[in-house]
Amino acid sequence: MNTLTSATLPSKLPNVGTTIFTVMSKLAAEVGAINLSQGFPGFDCSPELVSLVEHYLRRGFNQYAPMTGVPTLREALAQKTSDLYNVAYHPDTEVTITSGATEAIFAAVTAVIRPGDEVLVFEPAYDSYVPAIELNGGIPVYVTLTPPDYSIDWKTVREKITDKTRLILINTPHNPTGRVWTVDDLVQLANIVRDRDIWIVSDEVYEHILFDNRTHHSLMTHPVLQERTFIVGSFGKTFHITGWKIGYCLAPAELTREFRKIHQYLTFSTVTPIQYALADYLAQPAHYQELPTFYQRKRNLFLDGLRNSRFEFKPAEGSFFQTVSYAAITDEPDYDLAIRLTKEINVASIPVSVFYNQKNDYKILRFCFAKDDATLQKAAERLSRL
Ligand code: PMP
Ligand code: GLN
Repeated sequence: MNTLTSATLPSKLPNVGTTIFTVMSKLAAEVGAINLSQGFPGFDCSPELVSLVEHYLRRGFNQYAPMTGVPTLREALAQKTSDLYNVAYHPDTEVTITSGATEAIFAAVTAVIRPGDEVLVFEPAYDSYVPAIELNGGIPVYVTLTPPDYSIDWKTVREKITDKTRLILINTPHNPTGRVWTVDDLVQLANIVRDRDIWIVSDEVYEHILFDNRTHHSLMTHPVLQERTFIVGSFGKTFHITGWKIGYCLAPAELTREFRKIHQYLTFSTVTPIQYALADYLAQPAHYQELPTFYQRKRNLFLDGLRNSRFEFKPAEGSFFQTVSYAAITDEPDYDLAIRLTKEINVASIPVSVFYNQKNDYKILRFCFAKDDATLQKAAERLSRL
């Protein structure tokens, strides 16, 4: 029986297919390739963290957590934020635990955007931003950043701001380019948004992964930015637990109130025993302080392996991604090359064109170096043969 009058469900996201991360990880598994495509650690999280989760699981912490997150975790995050950035967020009214950064980004965009509002997006952009904008009837307005520096031309940003601009999406350290915002970037942005009703979502999931003695300049550290910004974080990146899907949002009380109205109907709350475990685990700063050294060694190992290849690169400033130019090797489209390299030399990567709305192809591939040393060396050897 067919009582529907239209043959198909009209898509709310007609331009969206399966994400590149799913496509490349699936292909890598099928052909047995080294998977440097999707961003996730190839090694396990700390046994201590697993024991803590087990402890809370066995002690019966298995029912709904409070909608806003368990108090001890909100308090631990507020403490860490104040220690690191000297900014006070009240754990009861300004900190919310979410089911990953993805949920926090969606909830924050939904809290702000109404149909017809414009949202400034720097591209290449992480893939969940634009669907979140479009599902809320927002209009993405793109500021295009290009290799090798991906630096921001603030004159262009100014030109793209209109009376309809309601939100700007920021990501630092940046996926996929590895670029890190400077203090000057913060000042430039503050000068643009000051005295305007423009809010900001700042995706800072790689806040602890910076190299060559760089500092993370969170948007919360500039008062003009702090008062209008939803800071989004993820424990997935920091503690090697991307599969646990747990993140958070820090925002002034007025913003958090609206954020929580969305969050409570998206997921209501997130996984209880993990929240208790993370609260305990966060008490030792070494658990996140060691990350720059840990990942810088891996970045260097991978890049040392590529030194004699024909790839060209600038070492990533932060995140666990390295972009490389293959312009000296071939002029194939980056998507085709990523597929070919997965099948032929068994190394999977992400073509950076997928992060541009017009699929700009600058002949750049992204590699995730959150892998064990032997895997990185083997991948670099194979890539060096090209
Ligand atoms: N933002 C960026 C920039 C990311 O790279 C990722 C995932 N790797 C996310 C958000 C999503 O984080 P989560 O898995 O916590 O939802
Ligand atoms: N953030 C990860 C990346 O950029 C992937 C997350 C996902 O698969 N959605 O590779």
